[in-house]
Amino acid sequence: MSLAKQTLDSIDFAGKRAFVRVDFNVPLKDGVIGDDTRIRAAVPTILAILASGGSVIAASHLGRPKGKIVEDLHMDPVAERLQTLLGSNIEVKWIHDVRGDLAKTAAAQLEPGQVLVLDNLRFEEGETSNDSSMAADLASMADVFVQDAFGTCHRAHASTAGLPSTLKPAVAGKLLQNEIEAFDMAFGSPKRPVVAVVGGAKVSDKIVVLESLLDKVDTVLVGGGMAYTFLAAAGIGIGNSLCEEDKFDVARSIVEKAAAKGVELLLPTDHLVADNFAADANTQIIEGALPDGWMGLDIGPETTQTYSDKLRGAATVVWNGPMGVFELEPFSHGTSAIALVLAETDNLSVVGGGDSVAAIKKNQVESRITHISTGGGAFLEMLEGKELPGIAALDGR
Ligand code: AMP
Repeated sequence: MSLAKQTLDSIDFAGKRAFVRVDFNVPLKDGVIGDDTRIRAAVPTILAILASGGSVIAASHLGRPKGKIVEDLHMDPVAERLQTLLGSNIEVKWIHDVRGDLAKTAAAQLEPGQVLVLDNLRFEEGETSNDSSMAADLASMADVFVQDAFGTCHRAHASTAGLPSTLKPAVAGKLLQNEIEAFDMAFGSPKRPVVAVVGGAKVSDKIVVLESLLDKVDTVLVGGGMAYTFLAAAGIGIGNSLCEEDKFDVARSIVEKAAAKGVELLLPTDHLVADNFAADANTQIIEGALPDGWMGLDIGPETTQTYSDKLRGAATVVWNGPMGVFELEPFSHGTSAIALVLAETDNLSVVGGGDSVAAIKKNQVESRITHISTGGGAFLEMLEGKELPGIAALDGR
């Protein structure tokens, strides 16, 4: 797909109302925000629009209210936090309405320099069904559409697909622009060699990603539970490790395709194995085939060394998915090692997905990574080479 999209730079916001689709879907418990990273991430776009004389209507989903009003999922705590982050010189208003008269009147009364936060988009049934009347209601409130919720761009919802097709101009905000530019750097005309690190639980979740990567990268380093399906498909004993027997053919075909395309695909050669899926299990390092009764829960030291050397020799790295059961400390070292090697090198690094990003944060090396994606599912679909509806609907350059 073409990632060349119009950005904030192409719009004169003076006197205009911008509808900004943000991702304010923060962890919330008893009305308290657990982590406000996503709200902070939207601030540069909001400030840029306000600074150029516009006003902002910010809208997001929060949790899964499934088309009904859920009292705990109003946007109030999010809007309050946004007010704190923007400071008292900027007026942030919020209302308990998404697309009705209250919302339309509040939008009409918005002055340049002000922000209005609409209520939870998913209180409306029409949001997830991409209802055209919902898109029309939202479009009637603003003059410009700005997409800055990369994490929901893989969904064809009213606010991500219908609205930017209706409300023009429709452009990418700064957060989305950063995501697009990172993908372009890694896959457009990247510096080679390009190395992809792919881990996670299942091959079935990563088949399309792996096949798509084979057309783009020089080396693929496979880790995590999914590696065991590849090893078992090659006839290597994997003991009690995670295995998808119905994916043996797919695993073999990926290995064959890699060989045919001249892509180096590496699998773990040694493993940290456990006799139980638990933090206090007995463990040992095993090279080659795994004995019965033991399961591989992390890559071993030799594999860690091999993968680290490949990453040191890479010019560009893309990483998605943990090398082991990262949530349990004894099996988190392979994943942490990847994070630390990326931090040590000056290669261009793009990291996405919950566990990989968590490993970067846990090891406090965020500043050493070129781009940490804000998208989970959206990042995977970009890796799969899919056209994301929320990006496709924006104006091209
Ligand atoms: P994914 O969402 O596909 O990226 O997978 C992430 C999950 O894979 C994490 O919850 C890990 O605990 C799990 N995982 C990684 N390595 C293994 C392994 N060797 N055995 C079982 N689960 C694993």
